[in-house]
Amino acid sequence: MTAQTSTIPGGDPSLEHELRRLASSPAVTHAAVIPESTPLEDARSQLADVIRLLGYSDGLHAMLATARRELTVAVPLRRDRGDISLFVGHRVQHNFSRGPAKGGLRYSPHVTLDEVRALAMWMTWKCALLDVPYGGAKGGIRIDPRDFSVGELERVTRRYTSEILPIIGPSQDIPAPDIGTDEQTMAWIMDTYSVSVGHTVPGVVTGKPISLGGSLGRSSATSLGVTHVAIKALEHLGRSPRGASAAVQGFGKVGRDAARFLSDAGLNVVAISDQYGAVFAGGGLDVAALAAHVDATGSVVGFPESEPLDAELLLELDVDLLVPAAVEGVIHAENAARVRATVIVEGANGPTSPAADRILADNGVLVVPDILANAGGVLVSYFEWVQANQAYWWTANEVETKLADRMTAAWVNVRDYSAKHGLTLRTAATSMAVERVTEAHRLRGLYP
Ligand code: NAD
Repeated sequence: MTAQTSTIPGGDPSLEHELRRLASSPAVTHAAVIPESTPLEDARSQLADVIRLLGYSDGLHAMLATARRELTVAVPLRRDRGDISLFVGHRVQHNFSRGPAKGGLRYSPHVTLDEVRALAMWMTWKCALLDVPYGGAKGGIRIDPRDFSVGELERVTRRYTSEILPIIGPSQDIPAPDIGTDEQTMAWIMDTYSVSVGHTVPGVVTGKPISLGGSLGRSSATSLGVTHVAIKALEHLGRSPRGASAAVQGFGKVGRDAARFLSDAGLNVVAISDQYGAVFAGGGLDVAALAAHVDATGSVVGFPESEPLDAELLLELDVDLLVPAAVEGVIHAENAARVRATVIVEGANGPTSPAADRILADNGVLVVPDILANAGGVLVSYFEWVQANQAYWWTANEVETKLADRMTAAWVNVRDYSAKHGLTLRTAATSMAVERVTEAHRLRGLYP
């Protein structure tokens, strides 16, 4: 593992000092989260369970628990008003055994290096589980994008891209959107990279706008995959999705379309939250009307055809399906026993701590883990990369059919492995993924 810290161009000592201060200052913590364990501790604990199960060596365990490459960079921004602000950015590449690194880029005041490490590790398992030819990566800048103009976000993105440029590329590491970033962010990264190498390279990012080589169906792929898996999980328990009740935490890129697809599939989406609050309607929320309300006001709060709900209580509603689609660590040891959902389908990465997992398993709650449930995003990112590298574009129908086929196959494989070995779906999925990564590593051998 190599850890690097960039120097600031021009070597301005006040900026150097500011970077050290920023890098060592704690990130703002998620207000709703009780930090019983960090995402990295959770990811490493899940890995340790599987290593014990598979009987792998300590050396292999250490390799899989540790990122192959980490880059921490200073990102100076010239503000619209003329002064300079400085941000810390990271890019972590967890594993390359199965192919180039792949993973999202997050803009959030909560970003820490450890969080990015955890997210990169989960990406390795997700890519292996869905059998896409990538290792895992993740990136982040500790910034609240809501506080900055579009021009400022463009400058931050371009500067961050130029700082991490030596380690990204269509054969090295391919970023994609995550919390706080979107297809415009990907367009700026693609342009900055392309200008730097002297020709257009659409395959350097996924989640691009369609007109720049994005794939049809990518923006809603994570949510569609969540919906496919949720329906399979309900049916597995003998419940019809039609008329089943659902609650969705988060109304961003994942939660919003997940609520829409679930509603289209006949589920009754009774509660939805965002970082500002939650709304409830026992007869089911009109998701399209709620989306229009959010577009107009910026939040689900105050939606007229609903009653307000304590956002924490959304997780404890007596529903058939709960979809956490916001941030890590929201279901923890303290609240897990109060979760009454029959099935949890993890749209977010890492929403459930290992301690909560044990409580939920004891209480008979079926948890479909993130590395399976939200893998539709990286799957269609892979489709986008394949299309961009071939300059040949598929129809929306082709993309959605391939997505449905591969999500269903992954669900069946994990369900069967879990039944065969008597494991939770998470341990089964992680175990299958770790076996695949390890097989690739063994076949390639350890250099030198
Ligand atoms: P986003 O920034 O588009 O949306 C995040 C949403 O969560 C917003 O509605 C925000 O208000 C809400 N939120 C934040 N904190 C909350 C809290 N404490 N309670 C309730 N709501 C809260 O981000 P996104 O892309 O939708 O990502 C959401 C999750 O899904 C993340 O864990 C991300 O890593 C994961 N994920 C995203 C993708 C993708 O393709 N975008 C793919 C796989 C996994």
